[in-house]
Amino acid sequence: MSGAAPTAIAPRLLEDALGRRLHYLRLSLTERCNFRCVYCLPEGSEAAAGADPLTLPEIRRLVRAFADLGFWKVRLTGGEPTVRRDVAEIVRAVRETPGVRKVGLTTNGYRLHALAADLRDAGLSSINVSLDSLEPERFRAVTGNARPERVVAGIEAALAARIPVVKVNVVLLRGLDEPEVLRFLEWTRAVPLRIRFIELMETGDNRDFFARARLEAGAVRRILEARGWSQLARTRLDGPAVEYGHPDHAGLVGIISAYDEGFCETCNRLRVTSRGALRTCLFGDEEVPLRDVLQSDADREALVERVRAAVARKPASHLLQLGRCGTTRHLAATGG
Ligand code: SAM
Ligand code: SF4
Repeated sequence: MSGAAPTAIAPRLLEDALGRRLHYLRLSLTERCNFRCVYCLPEGSEAAAGADPLTLPEIRRLVRAFADLGFWKVRLTGGEPTVRRDVAEIVRAVRETPGVRKVGLTTNGYRLHALAADLRDAGLSSINVSLDSLEPERFRAVTGNARPERVVAGIEAALAARIPVVKVNVVLLRGLDEPEVLRFLEWTRAVPLRIRFIELMETGDNRDFFARARLEAGAVRRILEARGWSQLARTRLDGPAVEYGHPDHAGLVGIISAYDEGFCETCNRLRVTSRGALRTCLFGDEEVPLRDVLQSDADREALVERVRAAVARKPASHLLQLGRCGTTRHLAATGG
């Protein structure tokens, strides 16, 4: 039953058919969201989006099984994970799972000023806050009416609470000009923030917007290089960001381009949706239901075996370059 003391089983490391070692779980806590980002949920989340997300006992069982498979890093995402009242409790439960060493959260930052200290106390290792523009008008147009000052206050609260790693996600959209990129860079001069510029990805629901608004990462790369930023050496454990540093800046800048050749070669992650379906690729066609084996501790082995079997079918690569995004209508559904 759920009250049993968690025991760590010696991890049996998980590799897919291409020999990619998987150790990173991205878990969506809800499909619901309080923003209406134009590339994600322009109409807001659907009424049914908040229905029946995984409960805390289900999340505990899920994360224990992944830890059995050698997963040591978990990121909580959505939808907007902070719309769940038990978000800090979930962070604590994940952090206390034997074998888990890092717990991250991706958020739009709207509730962060009030939550940052609780999240830190719960053991959060890193937070990614989305902030696509520092210009109030542009930010409002992207998010469907949010104010950037409120998100900036959340980021400052996360820094003040000493959450160990604070990153800012900026989706690259046409209209982001050099002065605004420079404002983001300036922010890293004295503050140990990591700004990550992310290329817009095409999904089933945003095809027209994607065609109109995509801005290629080269635009930012050129600004970085002209201003004395240099690319840092990568390690095997690095994520998909190509990182840049500058001798006069405390922070770092990363660029994430899912359209780069070889992007999937170092993929180390699996995703679970808020209703407990495993997705082995963000832009894949397959969802493997896990919820039926999350109801009892007695099903732990069955759960582990179901994950293993699905991983054998993990696609070598997404097919975004061909305009194919699998069954992904928007990233709020798959835990972006
Ligand atoms: N609501 C939270 C947030 O916005 O940070 C977490 C979920 S959101 C799906 C996770 C990240 O994916 C955000 O940084 C968001 O900007 C990004 N994102 C969403 N749709 C995207 C798309 N089509 N292309 C690139 N990034 C996207
Ligand atoms: Fe909500 Fe995040 Fe999607 Fe924006 S990107 S609509 S904040 S889930």
